[in-house]
Amino acid sequence: MILHAGYRAPKEAGAFVDGPQFASTFTAPGDPSRHPLTYGRFHNPTWSVWEEALGVLEGGHAISFASGMAAADAVLGVCLRPGDVVVLPADSYYTTRLLALNWLAALGVQIRLAPTRDNAQAELLEGAKLLWLETPTNPQLEVCDIRELVQASRRHGVQVAVDNTTATAYLQQPLALGADYVIASDTKALTGHGDLVLGHAATSDPERATALRTWRTQHGAIPGPMEAWLAHRSLATLPLRLERQCTSAQQLAAFLGTRVPRGGVHYPGLPEHPGHLIARRQMKAFGGVVSFDLETKGRAEAFLQALRLVREATSFGGVHSTAERRARWGGDAISEGFIRFSVGCEAIQDILDDVGGALGAAGF
Ligand code: PLP
Repeated sequence: MILHAGYRAPKEAGAFVDGPQFASTFTAPGDPSRHPLTYGRFHNPTWSVWEEALGVLEGGHAISFASGMAAADAVLGVCLRPGDVVVLPADSYYTTRLLALNWLAALGVQIRLAPTRDNAQAELLEGAKLLWLETPTNPQLEVCDIRELVQASRRHGVQVAVDNTTATAYLQQPLALGADYVIASDTKALTGHGDLVLGHAATSDPERATALRTWRTQHGAIPGPMEAWLAHRSLATLPLRLERQCTSAQQLAAFLGTRVPRGGVHYPGLPEHPGHLIARRQMKAFGGVVSFDLETKGRAEAFLQALRLVREATSFGGVHSTAERRARWGGDAISEGFIRFSVGCEAIQDILDDVGGALGAAGF
């Protein structure tokens, strides 16, 4: 299904998929409502087929945005008004918290923060308008139970949005678990080649989809046609890439467990991970990111410097393995030696050899 989504039908003549449509303006005489295409901030045929494919993947209506943050901003923006309460994960992607604390709070939205682990956000739902979940979280890979939190939210009349970036819709389907909105940074594993910045939001409700589309038109956070086209091209290999990344991540996590001090490896696929059973229920596999604690800044930097194959870079989900010392950015309750490792599609033995050598150089 994913492989063919947004492509021409099998019996339809023509290219499998058209090239990117670069157009800011379309010939549209007279009454503009008679024309499907008028102006490049309103619509673009390359976005349309990309969104059709995303909709199949998410099981809803998908709206593509210029970045993951633009998609998050749109969902927060269409849901919240001054005086409303939003419950965010205290360990969410840092910029999501910054967006809420720097901008929404100034508009009179009340922000409540609780950790992802143990569904702690459920305690703060009374009187809230929106519950924002992220699972697994970036970078600590904490997990919460989407279905259970949706049920708790229903009892309080609270809407639920899930940031599904680390899992992707291939591994986890928040709309099927009852969420009202899902958002993702498609900069990461969904497109997976480190060559574009993009995001999307999806919902099962056509009216909410229209509100998000209107938000995009009026705020202007539109995707570029080239990005949408590259993303659509990359989607066909999503299952291949992710299945390999997940298998390799599981092997890397097990290997790290033999070298890093006890409790220092964070991966939802490990039986000892506090969210393992929830992740088993709600995810198809456990993702391509593994985090681990090398205790000090000095040891983490020695590790990164000793890597030969794996690049030191931020972002994650790409076909090339990357790693970084996450505390260099600030904002997360993690040690100075905390490493976020994104497992790529290289041969697993090459990754293990590189990591093993670098751990040795860092004294592990
Ligand atoms: N959500 C999560 C969990 C992320 O990790 C990121 C980026 O790292 C974003 C949202 C924002 O995505 P983008 O960088 O595409 O704006």
